[in-house]
Amino acid sequence: MTNVVGLSCVICDKAYAADYTGYVCPDHGNEGILDVQYDYERIGATFTKDSLAADRDRTMWRYRPLMPIASDAAVPPLTVGGTPLYDAIPLAAGLGVANVFVKDEGRQPTASLKDRASAMAVVKAQERGAEIVTTASTGNAAAALAGLAASVGQRNVIFVPASAPEAKISQLLAYGSTVVLVNGTYGDAFDLCMEASAEYGWYNRNTGYNPFMTEGKKTAGLEILEDLAWEAPDSIFVSVGDGSIIGGVHKAMKDAFALGWIDHMPHIFGIQAAGSDYLVQAF
Ligand SMILES: *Cc1c(COP(=O)(O)O)cnc(C)c1O
Ligand SMILES: [Zn+2]
Repeated sequence: MTNVVGLSCVICDKAYAADYTGYVCPDHGNEGILDVQYDYERIGATFTKDSLAADRDRTMWRYRPLMPIASDAAVPPLTVGGTPLYDAIPLAAGLGVANVFVKDEGRQPTASLKDRASAMAVVKAQERGAEIVTTASTGNAAAALAGLAASVGQRNVIFVPASAPEAKISQLLAYGSTVVLVNGTYGDAFDLCMEASAEYGWYNRNTGYNPFMTEGKKTAGLEILEDLAWEAPDSIFVSVGDGSIIGGVHKAMKDAFALGWIDHMPHIFGIQAAGSDYLVQAF
């Protein structure tokens, strides 16, 4: 039993049932990303700020009623979530603003926010009885999937471009992943991963494709709000690669706003490094 009412295509709004096992809206191919829709009225009837305050589980799973998983689904044993929000007083003083808070996702088991999505991927893969979970990545997403999968003995195959740093690849091997080195770019590794997943029925964790990754990542945003006693900040700044984390942060704000737990939507800013600014260029 979950509180999901269905999935909806972000391009055409077409609705799909909660138990739809595809990843995207077929009318829009790989761009037809699906957004998980919840029954907020039902959630809010029993899941409240007070019930959360009384919950001693400090992991990401404390927000389970707002997740696309069954209330009794087994979750990985690693502690994912519950990362600190620092009150960065000198930073605020230097910037001349009242408050600056910094969310430290480096404290996750494999050292990045990606653990939140990979933990969700592992739960969904086990729910479907998938023999293998797969992803393409050059870095943190691969490490996260490898680590979370290892924690539950879930077999996984990770496609990485052959140019990936040796240290990153050895981390995956240490976690027991099967690593496929692809002679080509990240794009080539991604394409091969997508084909293998479709051909062999492997559970696909690729970001910007699997609709549930956002639902894991959003728990970082929910933690920020809860740590601020549900007083939404004016602005949130998110480092952006392909935009999945910022999408998750937005989803958290949307959920909290729909539940009436915050009184406004914060401004959300995406920040890209000059050397990796594809979205800025696209705009
Ligand atoms: C993945 C990652 C990002 C970018 O996330 P996107 O979802 O691709 O926008 C930024 N910082 C770190 C540390 C990451 O691991
Ligand atoms: Zn569509």
